[in-house]
Amino acid sequence: DVLALPQDRWVRVVELRGTQANGCSFFSHVDITASRRQQEELRQLTLHLESLAVKDALTGLVNRRRFDEALESEWRRAHRSETALSLLLLDVDHFKQLNDSFGHPFGDEVLKCFAGLLAHCVQRAGSLVSRYGGEEFAILLPGTGLSGAARLAEFIRQQVEALSLGNQQTGLVQITVSVGVACASGPALDSSCSSLIDMADRALYEAKRKGRNSVCLAGV
Ligand code: GH3
Ligand code: MG
Ligand code: MG
Repeated sequence: DVLALPQDRWVRVVELRGTQANGCSFFSHVDITASRRQQEELRQLTLHLESLAVKDALTGLVNRRRFDEALESEWRRAHRSETALSLLLLDVDHFKQLNDSFGHPFGDEVLKCFAGLLAHCVQRAGSLVSRYGGEEFAILLPGTGLSGAARLAEFIRQQVEALSLGNQQTGLVQITVSVGVACASGPALDSSCSSLIDMADRALYEAKRKGRNSVCLAGV
């Protein structure tokens, strides 16, 4: 048995009953504090490494790896519980031009602000905002239908348009975003979850084609 002592110390107590020639028992106490502390440090380190493995270092959002896992599990859950699952794919417009005009570090700052705005706009528990890659972001919306997802996309588009960025060197900089919206429910959930990405991606392409700074819905 392990016994907790005051001041975060631990001993292992082993009872050796009747092992002595005279029939006596004795208890052996071993101080295991050091190994306990090492175990706890290792546990904390593992948790920290696990969180780093799913986090995007620049924006602090979850990364593509975590998004892929969440998409798989939310897709299965939506299937089981017969609910809808929506996805927004967002891509900052003409971002390359922004980098070229004001430099890569400024581009990084813009991505951080953009990510912060997305996190701020998406408050509902269960929703997941992720950096999908580069200047592309994905928002997973469990239990949300196409119209709810489209409303959120339009809200974000307007918030981004209203965002004022820049510093003394750059002056006022404004950005816009294009959004592809897709939703799966019912029999659509029988297929693979990659179909949701494909639909949102096609809708995003359409939003770009229409002239950017716009929201397009898949299959509409
Ligand atoms: P479009 O409106 O069609 O989306 O045009 P775009 O310029 O935004 O798209 P394109 O794919 O041509 O360029 C994306 C740019 O994003 C190119 C790449 O250098 C930049 N980028 C990707 N990741 C980062 C990053 O982490 N930081 C910075 N500063 N730039 C990045
Ligand atoms: Mg892109
Ligand atoms: Mg872009």
